[in-house]
Amino acid sequence: MTTTHILGFPRVGDKRQLKFALEKYWRGEISQQALKDTGSTIRAVNWQTQADANLSYVTSGDFAWYDHVLTTSLLLGNVPERHQSERITLDTLFRVGRGRSQSDCGCGAAASDMTKWFNTNYHYLVPEFKADTQFSIQWSQLFEETKQAMEAGHSVKPVLLGPLSYLYLGKEVETGFDRLSLLPRLITAYQQIFTKLENLGVEWIQVDEPILALELDKEWRSAFKLAYQMLGSKTKVLLTTYFDSINHHLDEITQLEVDGLHVDVSQNQNCLDEIIEKLPTDWVLSVGAINGRNVWRADLAQWLDILTPVQQQLGERLWVASSCSLLHSPVDLELETQLSAETKSWFAFAKQKVDEVSLLGQALAGSTTAIAACREYSEPLRARAQSNLIHKTHIQQKVKALVSGSSERAAPFAERIAAQAEYLKLPLLPTTTIGSFPQTADIRLQRSAYRQGKLGETEYNQALKGHIEDAIRRQEAIDLDVLVHGEAERNDMVEYFAELLSGFETTQFGWVQSYGSRCVKPAIVVADIERERAMTVEWTRFAQSLTSKHMKGMLTGPVTILCWTFPREDISRQQIAQQLALALKEEVSDLQQAGINIIQIDEPAIREGLPLKKSEQAEYLDWAVNAFKLSASSALPQTQIHTHMCYSEFNEIIESVAALDADVITIETSRSNMELLNAFEEFAYPNEIGPGVYDIHSPNVPSTEWIKNLIKKAAEQIPIERLWVNPDCGLKTRGWEETEKSLTNMVTATKELRKEYTK
Ligand code: GLN
Ligand code: ZN
Repeated sequence: MTTTHILGFPRVGDKRQLKFALEKYWRGEISQQALKDTGSTIRAVNWQTQADANLSYVTSGDFAWYDHVLTTSLLLGNVPERHQSERITLDTLFRVGRGRSQSDCGCGAAASDMTKWFNTNYHYLVPEFKADTQFSIQWSQLFEETKQAMEAGHSVKPVLLGPLSYLYLGKEVETGFDRLSLLPRLITAYQQIFTKLENLGVEWIQVDEPILALELDKEWRSAFKLAYQMLGSKTKVLLTTYFDSINHHLDEITQLEVDGLHVDVSQNQNCLDEIIEKLPTDWVLSVGAINGRNVWRADLAQWLDILTPVQQQLGERLWVASSCSLLHSPVDLELETQLSAETKSWFAFAKQKVDEVSLLGQALAGSTTAIAACREYSEPLRARAQSNLIHKTHIQQKVKALVSGSSERAAPFAERIAAQAEYLKLPLLPTTTIGSFPQTADIRLQRSAYRQGKLGETEYNQALKGHIEDAIRRQEAIDLDVLVHGEAERNDMVEYFAELLSGFETTQFGWVQSYGSRCVKPAIVVADIERERAMTVEWTRFAQSLTSKHMKGMLTGPVTILCWTFPREDISRQQIAQQLALALKEEVSDLQQAGINIIQIDEPAIREGLPLKKSEQAEYLDWAVNAFKLSASSALPQTQIHTHMCYSEFNEIIESVAALDADVITIETSRSNMELLNAFEEFAYPNEIGPGVYDIHSPNVPSTEWIKNLIKKAAEQIPIERLWVNPDCGLKTRGWEETEKSLTNMVTATKELRKEYTK
């Protein structure tokens, strides 16, 4: 027998049961018991799925009410002071995750910061550390759930975020100390956790240390040795790494006092040889072959060929597993009724990945039926590789021509901006917004009626035109300089384009947890991407026809579309970005032809695509920047290209941001009080820039004075001739009332400043 397991299963439920139960509970519509029952059922179903597939172990501890890092903080009793109460309860957990509302206690204690889990689209709650942070076990979820799984008759392997990764992923909330100094105390708490698990009778504990895939400095690397020595676990420890290779740390890893190593080789099988060579002879090696973070069916025939010799070498010490937790893939492909049988045969969601792990394990153990099944399983992928509906020669040729040409605009920035000034005649400190306006209940109802076939196409389009006209009249009344149509026709800035471009598939239930109860349903790139027709021209032209002000066209950039969809695995990310660039370049061209003089190409995700290892980042940035530039390269000098990014850490990538060579960039700055402009000032960012002057995440209406101050602050760092005035991001989540008030204050502030500055 080959030991098989997965690193974790999605916790939202196949129909997002957890999401709906959580939101009902938060609204006070169901009891805590009802919420707990929902969680309990999801776990029971998940374990049964793994048991039915004959995995050697089912995984416990992968369930979280909000986020698994937050669960770890509670387990360790590390609750930020502002949320501390006598006893930690489920509501404490939600308060740390979501913030305490003003009405709760009058103090409105803020939620913990949330940030991206490595290079996935999952977000975790950042643990907070102080010099005197103490750790003690205060949350028994892990033990109770492990017991629940055992009582259901399963062989259980609990999973736990490892001490070093837990520390590393958190942050110091006071100055003058290093969170690594907390390690001895933290290890003491981990020892208690391990003892408890041992008392439950578990055989293996999966200890996740994903930071081993990063490039750690010496301090952190040596801390590993100390930590695992101190831990001295009696229960066997499977040290688990994922998302990238760990060979650069292999010499240190193999010194650790653990009993096995899990490696993610789904993207890179070449690193296996060295690992096998250096693996301590009493360790097991868990090979993460089945990609846990994409939707593609595994090539089991190929894996069988790769792993058979490994099996011969390691025997029972070889385990077969998913590369990472299946948290990052949708739950069940069988629920998809609208995909063709052929398309379905290319995919595997979490449930199917469990079967893949199992089948591969059986085949490696020598079962002839399993071996045959593995070979047959790969057939659809072989057929796909030959299909000219997937690999489109005409697109590949066009892309080739595009990338071998120049990605530069027709004129350098200085010439372009002069041409644009002449052509657009904008005032000092031009005002604009980022694209979307409130997605009102009306819009959402009409869209869902249309999608369900209850509202005809003509009626739906008519309704959308009404919303566009409404948005324009309001912007005119506010007296903004550059208007937008408001994006009423878009449910989502990526899905909208994915549905119009050929080469994408969308699913009905392909939801993946993003944070808390929030899920996203990324489209899937399945074939060479082709723009068969214009995607935004009609709406934008219509909007422009209603006003004499400039209408800004609105596109989502190639890198963002790539980062927020499931990519193909048979061509590179770079190639996908180039195909998207071609499609967008054609759209830019058509918009320009239709008389649109300002076009925004949003790239809020460009930073998210960064590889985990610093040494690989430059190459990514290079092709990502190039893809953006290619999409803008059809713009004439007098056509103004904007881009937008909504985050605040620009320091590391500022050169690449400048290299995009957009005429105008709008960014998030209001929450940091314009501090992030430092990066732009220090670098002497050459083009125009619109630092956000108010935070759209809050319903608060910023005062005119407050906005004026921010603009003045910005003007100290960026020459005023190059400044724009705009909010931090799109306004789709806001209501009209606060939006109109805020924008009115923004325009008033700008007008007053124009007088002051031109005096
Ligand atoms: N144009 C988009 C909007 O306004 C940009 C959203 C984003 O940056 N995430 O909604
Ligand atoms: Zn944004």
